[in-house]
Amino acid sequence: MSRYGSPVINIINEHLGPLLVSESCMATEKLWDMMTRMASPYGGGGLAPYAISAIDLALWDLKGKLLKRPVYELIGGPTRDHIDCYATGNDTDWHISNGFMATKMACPYGPADGLRALDLNEDFISKKRHLVGDEIDLMVDCWMSFDVDFAVRFAERMKPYRLRWIEDCLMPDDLDGQAELRKRLPTQTLATGEHWYTLSPFTNAVSRRSVDIFQPDLAWSGGLTGCLKIATIAEGASISVIPHAGMNTPYGQHFGMAVTNSPKGEYFVASAPGVPFDEVKLTPGMQTPCNGVVTPSNEPGFGLGLTLDGIQAMTV
Ligand SMILES: [Mg+2]
Repeated sequence: MSRYGSPVINIINEHLGPLLVSESCMATEKLWDMMTRMASPYGGGGLAPYAISAIDLALWDLKGKLLKRPVYELIGGPTRDHIDCYATGNDTDWHISNGFMATKMACPYGPADGLRALDLNEDFISKKRHLVGDEIDLMVDCWMSFDVDFAVRFAERMKPYRLRWIEDCLMPDDLDGQAELRKRLPTQTLATGEHWYTLSPFTNAVSRRSVDIFQPDLAWSGGLTGCLKIATIAEGASISVIPHAGMNTPYGQHFGMAVTNSPKGEYFVASAPGVPFDEVKLTPGMQTPCNGVVTPSNEPGFGLGLTLDGIQAMTV
């Protein structure tokens, strides 16, 4: 399962796939290493990681089916009974009524709106804090739209509203900017990594202690094998890993169930208020959050519950 259609399909079918023929499907570590090296000349940070992730996740699903165990048992076993989820989106009242104890908003204004953006953002966020009260965690996703100067002004202005973290302030390649942001905002929790696709930016951020929470996407950052490596790198520096939209896929749910330094899961609320989460789930077998928590399926593999007809219906 992946995104970007034919370019990613061609990397899988024309390059990576044929070179894996006759290899053991159980050798996920070796195959990840082969794919990463094979794709490195043309795309450490491009579409290649999407293709590598798709193959890696399919291999883990197959491994679980062959061994008749859920994937989270194969990667260390459960570390918790369920995963606490936070909801992402701006329908905050809908999130709270579904039992989420944390919710993340898209920041509506940025540097392009001038300094008045600070007033407009404060108006938006103060209303959200008033709506949810003091017990609910509030976070803000800036989706790469800030610069260092604006992010510093923003964080200082929003202090009264106690944001749990500020996310993705800068463009993903600006690792020096991230380090500068950390220096100028020593007490604000910073999250990023959704658009980091190799191990290098994560090791860079660990060595400079420039991020508090890593957010790799299981389907973009090297699959389960890649994200487990990222989690290990992070664990050594007491950094949390909360995968991007992790609770929207069985992949992220199995990761969250097994990884000790993954304290929460992100559930991106893709449906309109009032639409049950089960009506918009990615695969028939996956679980959706209930009262703000989720427990992954314990069916073999990722418990996708897919049939050939179902796969054809999903293919675009
Ligand atoms: Mg994000």
